[in-house]
Amino acid sequence: MKDCIFCKIRDGEIPSPKLYEDDEVFVIRDINPRAKCHYLMIPKDHYAYLGDKNANGEVLGRALKKIADLAPSLGLSNGYRVIINQGADGGQEVMHLHIHILGGEKLPL
Ligand code: AMP
Ligand code: ZN
Repeated sequence: MKDCIFCKIRDGEIPSPKLYEDDEVFVIRDINPRAKCHYLMIPKDHYAYLGDKNANGEVLGRALKKIADLAPSLGLSNGYRVIINQGADGGQEVMHLHIHILGGEKLPL
């Protein structure tokens, strides 16, 4: 998708080290961390948001399991929180579906 930050990171047009990558998803550090550890897991296919009728639930399911698998290597052995923001009320800023992963400290509710 033209002019999408996460598509550009996926394609290497904007530099951002990928901490994990496979054929479906990749993980980067959030540029504006809201916790000691703040990562984004981003499906490679461009879907605007969770409610996009084409968003692939199987990929998302595997992405969640992958987060659990990767947690120790991301410094999240003590726990973490996953968040998907959708739309204006959800505070979504980047219209390419992504999963926030927060941890590295006790998070306030
Ligand atoms: P959301 O509000 O759910 O759309 O979250 C978008 C997130 O992307 C925010 O937490 C931003 O800090 C983050 N972000 C925006 N641009 C970049 C970038 N170039 N590299 C890493 N994270 C980014
Ligand atoms: Zn995109």
